[in-house]
Amino acid sequence: MEFEYIFEEVKVKPSNAPKFVLNGEEVDIWSENLSYYHSKSISNYIRDNLMRYESKGKDPFNEIVGKKVEKDMVKTALMSGSNILFKGKKGYGKTTFSKSISKLLPDKLLAIKGCKIHDDPTQPVCFSCKKKVLEAEEVELTFIPRKWIRIPGDPMTTTRQLIGGISIQKIKEGYDLDHPEVFTPGRVLKAHRGIAYFDELGSIPSALQTLLHELFEERQITTPEGDIVPMKIDTLVVASTNPANYKGVSDIKEPLLDRMEQIDIGPPETAEEEIEIGLRNMNLKEGSMIPEWHLRILVNAVRCMRNKNCRYANRIEVEPSCRATIKLFDHVRASATRKGHEAVMLSDYGENFEVVKLALKSRFEVDYENEISKDEIIEGVLNDSIDAVCSSIYSMIPRNTFGDMIEEIARRKIVNAYDLNGIVTSFASSICSRKEELRSAIEIVLEAISRCSGLIDRAGDGVYVYKAYDRQT
Ligand SMILES: [Zn+2]
Repeated sequence: MEFEYIFEEVKVKPSNAPKFVLNGEEVDIWSENLSYYHSKSISNYIRDNLMRYESKGKDPFNEIVGKKVEKDMVKTALMSGSNILFKGKKGYGKTTFSKSISKLLPDKLLAIKGCKIHDDPTQPVCFSCKKKVLEAEEVELTFIPRKWIRIPGDPMTTTRQLIGGISIQKIKEGYDLDHPEVFTPGRVLKAHRGIAYFDELGSIPSALQTLLHELFEERQITTPEGDIVPMKIDTLVVASTNPANYKGVSDIKEPLLDRMEQIDIGPPETAEEEIEIGLRNMNLKEGSMIPEWHLRILVNAVRCMRNKNCRYANRIEVEPSCRATIKLFDHVRASATRKGHEAVMLSDYGENFEVVKLALKSRFEVDYENEISKDEIIEGVLNDSIDAVCSSIYSMIPRNTFGDMIEEIARRKIVNAYDLNGIVTSFASSICSRKEELRSAIEIVLEAISRCSGLIDRAGDGVYVYKAYDRQT
């Protein structure tokens, strides 16, 4: 009977192997050039590759900025063959982290051609492959690329979508083992020999979580007809969960939780790290420059909104993530590029910071009972941030130079950052890393003088007026 195979654990060795064919040619899968691509478990591949990185002193997760402690925890968990649960608010790189783990898998694996779950030729899991390797004279093989399967935590997910459809009954009725009624793998089974990334594991209905636990722990599936079918899939489970889930979203079930190591993923620790993340991930790779002072103003504004000491902290319910930072960088660069600025100017924030609002408004939530609007919060936070950056620039101006600067401005009465040469400009050029930033630097120096000394006023895009002159006229 065909269904006997279903319950059998099939192991293929050179002594009982069929003829394996790869790209039309018979191959010895135990030969030196092929043996690496089968028989090993996913956790063994990961462990070996991790050791390879460690012995070279290289970081396998170099696309992740900072997060040294978290990376170490991930490596330790992977070395000991554990599954991983990333816990943290959205936008702090849980998905990126899980993707970078897949780099530790071989770039390809040998699989039985036509298998719905890409079975290993030496230890097939699905019925039709079990039968094939035991009965067929010739079994065709193929290489499959490394797998990273994202499984969204959707409360509407069905068993069929998540686990799959398996029916022993249909086999008894005479259906072919390959028939979709007999076996249709769901997303988890498709992650066989790869990484299954459960995005928001807690949102998967609890009944399905129980089935997942059965699959991972007992390595079997109970069919709707009540048959218990062994399903020894080999996959590394990486899951994410958001601590700020609103009511109504189910939690992760205890038995599942018990099979994972929790690693907390928070916001970037330093402003420098967040700037790096923003620059690496922005969409607009080219265009106007974003000078360091603007990067700092924008990043500090976002970071302030996450800070308990922020003056709006008790109003902000959901904080902006790194995505807010990335979009802010994109939008100010877009604005500056459209206006033909070599580097970002303050006017690129928008007259009433509209450009900043565009990036932030949909990315944080305020207490709904609150009268203070999102607009006011953004304006307040950004102004504070400009103040802080300006005061650090102001403090860099040498005392003598400052006197000369004010004399120069008083003499000219009105100065324009787009068209200025002299003492202010020569100091400004000292804070530039590239000459394209000069106009932006002159403006930020003038803005710093305006905000910190009160001797000049901003009177338009890049234009500042000497106040004493203002009073005389
Ligand atoms: Zn198969």
